Amino acid sequence: MNLFILGVTGNIGMQTLDIVRKSKGKYNVVAVSGNSNFEKMKDIIKEFSPKYVSMGKREDVNKLEKLYPNVEYGYGNDGLIKTAIYGDLGEDLVVNAVVGSIGLEPTINAIKKGRNIALANKETLVIGGEIINDLLDKFKVKLIPIDSEHSAIMQCLKNEDSSTIKNIIITASGGSFRDKTRKELENVTVKDALNHPNWSMGAKITIDSATMMNKGLEVIEAHYLFDVSYDKIKTVLHRESIIHSLVEFNDTSVIAHLGNPDMRVPINYALSYPNRTPYNGTSLDLVKLGSLHFEELSYEIYPLLKMAIEAGISKGLNPATLNAANEAAVSLFLNGKITFLQIEEIIRESLDKFENDLNITLKKILDRDLKVKDYILRKYS
Ligand code: MN
Repeated sequence: MNLFILGVTGNIGMQTLDIVRKSKGKYNVVAVSGNSNFEKMKDIIKEFSPKYVSMGKREDVNKLEKLYPNVEYGYGNDGLIKTAIYGDLGEDLVVNAVVGSIGLEPTINAIKKGRNIALANKETLVIGGEIINDLLDKFKVKLIPIDSEHSAIMQCLKNEDSSTIKNIIITASGGSFRDKTRKELENVTVKDALNHPNWSMGAKITIDSATMMNKGLEVIEAHYLFDVSYDKIKTVLHRESIIHSLVEFNDTSVIAHLGNPDMRVPINYALSYPNRTPYNGTSLDLVKLGSLHFEELSYEIYPLLKMAIEAGISKGLNPATLNAANEAAVSLFLNGKITFLQIEEIIRESLDKFENDLNITLKKILDRDLKVKDYILRKYS
C-alpha cells in the first residue's frame, strides 16, 4: 500500500509513521508534506525515503534539497495538493492529517484522482461536506475517518443498515477545563488549556477540546460521514475516554466501541480498512477500570458546542465562517493576544457579521475562509 501523508510532522502524521514502522514493509511512504518543522522532515526523509516532499516555505525545501538531492520537492499550498495526487494510481491511500481548512483542497484533488483517503482533517467535512459527498459518489472514492469517535461509529455500523440507526452518540472527554466554572475560565492560561487529561494531541485540537468546539465540529463531521440527520446525533461527557462512541439502533440495542485512548488504534484501522490488522497496544482491563462515568454536556458551560451544531444545521457558508473564526481565534489565543473566553465572542461576532449563503461552491468556501480570518486577525492582533 502506497501512502501519501499530508501533515506528516504533526501529531497524527508522526503516529501514522509509527504504524508504518511497526508494520514492517506493508506500507510504502511515497509522498509527504510538512509545514515548518525542518528537523523532523530531515529525519523522516532519512528513515522513509519518500519520492516527493513538500514544506510550507521554499527556504526549507532549498535546505532539504542540498541534503537529499534525489527527492522531488514542492512547497506551499501547491506542494500540499501535489503530495495528495503525486505519481500514478496504484494501491494508494492519502492520509490527510493537516490541521485546518487548508486540508480541503488536497482532499478534493485526491478524490478527483480516484484515491481513497484516511481523514484526520475534520475541517474538510465541516466546511466542504456538501461538496465532498457528491464527489465521493461521482469518483467512487472511500473516505475513512481517523478521528477516534468516527472510527468507532464506523466500526459500530459495520454490517448494519443505516436506516436502522436511531441515534449516534459521540463521547467527549470534556477537555482541560471540564471542572471549571465560567468565572474560573476568565483567567485560564494557554499552558492550562494545553494540558489535556486523556489524549496527547496537537495544540489546535487541544484548545478545541477545551472550548468543546471540537465536539461541535465532530457532530458536523458525523452528519456528513454517516448521512444521519442532526436530531439523531447526540453528545455525552465521558471522562475516561474509554468508550469512543456508540450507536443506538431501532430496537434500542446500543453498540459501543471501547479501548484505551490511543490514536494509533484508529490510524491502524483506517490504514488497513476494511480489514482489521494487529496492533500491539495496551489491552483494556475492565476490572482495574472498575466504572465508567457519563454526564450531560451542557450548552451553558460549552456555548461553542451549540454554536457549531447550529452552524452545521444552517448549512451553506455558515460552517466555513464558524471554522475560520475558530482557527483565527485559537491562533490568537495561543499567541497570547486574546483571552480564552474571547474565542467564543469572536466566533459569535463573525457569524453575525458574515451572512450565510446556501448556494455553495469550493471557491466561495475558500473565499469566505480567507475573508473571515483576515477580518479577525486584523482586528485583534
Ligand atoms: Mn475526536
